Amino acid sequence: MAEEAFTKEQILQHLASRPRWLIEGVITINNKEKPVFSKLRPRNSSSIGALHCLPLELLHEILGYLDLQSLLRISLVSRHGHAIVEPLPAFRHLLSSAGHVFRTLTKTKVIGLHSVYTLNSILRSDRCVSCGFYGPFLSLPTAERCCHVCLFENRSLWMITLERARDIFVLSRKDMKTLPVMLSVPGHYHIRFETSRKRQFSLTSIRAVKALALKVHGSYDALSAAFAAKHQALAVKSVPLKTLQRYSQVQEAPLQQLSQDPITFRSTANVVIDKFCGMGTIPFPSISESGVENGIWCRGCELTSNSLWRRQDFTSRISLTVSEPDRFCRGLAYRTHSEAEFLEHAKHCYSASEVIMQKLL
Ligand SMILES: [Zn+2]
Ligand SMILES: [Zn+2]
Repeated sequence: MAEEAFTKEQILQHLASRPRWLIEGVITINNKEKPVFSKLRPRNSSSIGALHCLPLELLHEILGYLDLQSLLRISLVSRHGHAIVEPLPAFRHLLSSAGHVFRTLTKTKVIGLHSVYTLNSILRSDRCVSCGFYGPFLSLPTAERCCHVCLFENRSLWMITLERARDIFVLSRKDMKTLPVMLSVPGHYHIRFETSRKRQFSLTSIRAVKALALKVHGSYDALSAAFAAKHQALAVKSVPLKTLQRYSQVQEAPLQQLSQDPITFRSTANVVIDKFCGMGTIPFPSISESGVENGIWCRGCELTSNSLWRRQDFTSRISLTVSEPDRFCRGLAYRTHSEAEFLEHAKHCYSASEVIMQKLL
């Protein structure tokens, strides 16, 4: 696209999108929903005990390490508690930019898992933990940012039931108690895979359980050996070979940042299916210099993915490492950008001019 062809406003108005079908593939959140907290005011005027003696700065330093649930409890226990919590900077930022997710954090029982500092630092970062591109979502059990592409491509971001996690990663009941666990929300979900769930599940993330397993067993090889020994011992009730292969694919889920852009991955046959796709994830804003952002998708890339990727002048632009241009283009359409990245992307996007011109004519 010619750089000077369109104004910033035209690009943002006509080329940017936030496709509902894509955002509603994860836990749906009403952006206008106010946290219950903002409506409540404590009636009790009692003090907050020994904490009362500490200087406010020190008190704020300590309170930031508390999880959101504990902080809200202190705030609601008395007017004094409320007066101390309300001006806490990390809490104020969370409340003003992400207060609409508090109700979902409560519903999924994640509100007691992560400190206010952790959530606040996630708000101020915007990179997907897996690929390094913009991450518009938050994985609830681990409080890590992720993107739509990686939710599909990186199995470590998938959710797993506790029973299956224990089986695949050979963990004891005592080990399992240290895992972050969330309660799922019934509904319809889709991250390329699709699922409808009427009941609730206690879920953890494969990232969390694999990290724990590596700590418990000492190494990946030791984990594999423990898994093999366990299934040899259970030979009478043996698990089908296909299932064991799928279990190994879950064990192999990468914890490190991917070394290759996931939209250039080749499709693979017989891969394990994500049975809880999108069920451990919420849309989560980020704070940049220009304010609160929620991520932008590109209508131009969507058009390329839907119909234009076969054009020869487009395929000749793609790098030789891309073996499946249709898959690559679908990945581009799923990719999210910050506002600054999007304006840069628009300069090079294959279908940007076509989309904007259609809107302007
Ligand atoms: Zn990613
Ligand atoms: Zn584009």
